[in-house]
Amino acid sequence: MKGSTRVNIQDKLPLTCSRRGTCCHGNLVMLNPWELVSLAREKTITPREFRDLYCDYGGIRVRFDGEVGWKGKKACSQYISNFGCSVHIGRPLACRLFPLGRQKQCDEVHYMYQGDEFPCLEGCPEVSGLLLLTVGDYLKGQKTEKFEKAQDEYLDIVQNLADIAFFLLLDTGLAESGDTETLELWRKTGKELPEMLAAGIGPEWIDSLMIPEILVDTEDPVSFAYKHNEMLQQKAQDKFGDLQTFPEIQKASVLIMGVALYLARGLGANPETLVEHWIDIAKKNGAVE
Ligand code: SF4
Ligand code: SF4
Repeated sequence: MKGSTRVNIQDKLPLTCSRRGTCCHGNLVMLNPWELVSLAREKTITPREFRDLYCDYGGIRVRFDGEVGWKGKKACSQYISNFGCSVHIGRPLACRLFPLGRQKQCDEVHYMYQGDEFPCLEGCPEVSGLLLLTVGDYLKGQKTEKFEKAQDEYLDIVQNLADIAFFLLLDTGLAESGDTETLELWRKTGKELPEMLAAGIGPEWIDSLMIPEILVDTEDPVSFAYKHNEMLQQKAQDKFGDLQTFPEIQKASVLIMGVALYLARGLGANPETLVEHWIDIAKKNGAVE
């Protein structure tokens, strides 16, 4: 099986869902903070309640602790047997896209599916007899647009948070002081298991990241993320603006790098690969390890 198969917007594929619910079992559904709001709205509870009741690792993953179903795998916490998804209107991007995935690289968006065989065929072979749809029509039908915007806004926020870690390392004199530990600590953070990373960041930052109190129109992901970014930048300024010593600055750089990597994981990125990319950039700008 190869890594993934890229698809084009005009490709016609067996994308009509037979609604058997197999992909709501044993799957991995990651979340960004706006998706958490969307799910909570659908459930008519607060994002904090949704996070605490139905998510893992501080809110970046929907919990799969429902009834055992397809292939002995547990259902998503939002799945109801003989009914389907209980949060269908607010479901996250990963569920809207499935069996497809999405990647954004250098401002270009690509869609793909895992492996070289169309994923639905394993659990729902009947889809091969249903109406073929173009990828473009499928995305329209799934109303992915707002959710894709949210994903892109949060990708920018990941970079903004990482930029604070860069600033603390490169623009405060820390790197110039001969520091050789910070990049190794960044790397260690990238390798942490999500539960350990969440514990290391601590509840205050996790809550600011995943359940911010934002009063703008929460239906609009762009204004929501804009406000959220402002709040996170302000928090970083409040927390790190007056640091005096290099050990304090190093600690702050590692912490905020952890926050960026945690959010990146919620967007489906691989923190280990991402942190290596950032370490390379830091080294090109004078940091050493
Ligand atoms: S595996 Fe495909 S066809 Fe089956 S329920 Fe999921 S999306 Fe629908
Ligand atoms: S959120 Fe809904 S569509 Fe997504 S995995 Fe859970 S039950 Fe299935």
